[in-house]
Amino acid sequence: MSQTQDPIGWGISKAAQIHADAAKVQASLPDDPARDSLEFWQVLSRENTGISLCDSGMIYGYEYQKPPRSIPISLEFWGNEVMASISTAHWLETHCDASDPVAVALETELMALAKDPEHERENWFTCVHDWLQTFSNGPRSFTVEGADYEVLPTEERDNVYNRENDFSQVFVYELLQDNWDQSYALIHVHTGCDVRGGYSRPVIAKIVDLDYFYDWTADAYCHNCDQSWEMLYFYSEALAKIELNDDDPESQVAGIELDGKTADAERCMLLCPNCGQNTVGVHNSVYGI
Ligand SMILES: [Zn+2]
Repeated sequence: MSQTQDPIGWGISKAAQIHADAAKVQASLPDDPARDSLEFWQVLSRENTGISLCDSGMIYGYEYQKPPRSIPISLEFWGNEVMASISTAHWLETHCDASDPVAVALETELMALAKDPEHERENWFTCVHDWLQTFSNGPRSFTVEGADYEVLPTEERDNVYNRENDFSQVFVYELLQDNWDQSYALIHVHTGCDVRGGYSRPVIAKIVDLDYFYDWTADAYCHNCDQSWEMLYFYSEALAKIELNDDDPESQVAGIELDGKTADAERCMLLCPNCGQNTVGVHNSVYGI
């Protein structure tokens, strides 16, 4: 077994993280799709990460095999329950700017290390670990448009899987910070099956607003009675009794025939368990901050 298991404490063993070496060598800083586009994150979220040793992908399939999501927040109706799912690619596009020049400079450096002879056959997590080690000599300095930036890694790293979240796919992140208090995230999106393996190549992006970076759940809010909820259990038999407004076809979307189907959270309103009105919307800063 390798000595570099779980190199940076993300709960991911080297044995579970198998990458095709050829794919890594080809990966660089693609301009197409543009790094400030939704498509950039959609492509990353569908990166083929192969098969991990201990996953069930042969049975359940892999995230990279699914079509990209087109809806920022999807509602799925099952029995009396409504589940909200935030498209990870849409969320990353809202909260992370991969086209930022400092982020691009950092990622370029990381990719250069990943392709050197010593690392070209190592997995991404080992490459990231070794790149972060190089900061022990001091911060990385860049001058962009006349401004000087000094960037250092922070102690913060995690897998969003470890906290409550409504993401369609989890991701792991490592935060860096510059001398202007601007934060950057090094991100691997999970594109496999089992959460222990199957993570994309690393992307470094500027975090648009650090407060919103931790907005990982979709909450429900009633515009009529000003109530909000974290969990969604609004779809019930009571819906069958509600008088639907014929002038507003979207208000009818929460009908019993929806069982097992998916709806766009922006295009339907749910029944409020408090006031009984069809005025509950589902929100997350994925729609903009
Ligand atoms: Zn209400």
